[in-house]
Amino acid sequence: MSKVLIIEDEVAIADLEKDYLELSGFSVEIENNGNRGLARALSEEFDMFILDLMLPGVDGFEICKSIRENKNTPILMVSAKKDDIDKIRGLGLGADDYITKPFSPSELVARVKAHLSRYERLINSSVQENDIIEIRGLKIDKTARRVWINEEEKQFTTKEFDLLAFLAQNPNRVFSKEELFSKIWDLESVGDIATVTVHIKKIREKIEMNTAKPQYIETIWGVGYRFKV
Ligand code: CA
Repeated sequence: MSKVLIIEDEVAIADLEKDYLELSGFSVEIENNGNRGLARALSEEFDMFILDLMLPGVDGFEICKSIRENKNTPILMVSAKKDDIDKIRGLGLGADDYITKPFSPSELVARVKAHLSRYERLINSSVQENDIIEIRGLKIDKTARRVWINEEEKQFTTKEFDLLAFLAQNPNRVFSKEELFSKIWDLESVGDIATVTVHIKKIREKIEMNTAKPQYIETIWGVGYRFKV
């Protein structure tokens, strides 16, 4: 469940925001004071901040700036004055969005949802770029050197893993057996291009539903192999 911190000194507004966000399935906490709000924003884990501009203690400008120096968590800034919003934009404090009072609670909820899903996509895509390849039920963790097919883990030898990971990292490109042999096996290895054929066969037995009709590694007759996406 996503956790939202509302930093807002007007109790009625804070409560209204909290009610609507909780109805939409968020876990919500409120701080009415700028100093306490900032301290919690920096020391605890939240998925989103809703930040009022004028607050007792540290104001919203300072809080936004301090959060952004430490975290990438989305910040939605709330203000009573349109002029203040322009000022915040001008200062480039790093807020993700702005809303002026009075606003409709459903608009607030829609914006919170949009920022949270964008932030989650951002986090997930950077994880996948680093070490995980996922294609139609096949998942390869390059760092941990593990492979799953439809959530079931399969055991691979070192060379089988290297060959599968290499092909999956270079999808839709055709490689000849000679190319694959020289990329995956070092020069001192005993073997020849038939080794590639044998390894492809073993990989297919582990990842393909039907090895006669492979959906991942395709044979390009007379040329070599291609990983299909
Ligand atoms: Ca206020």
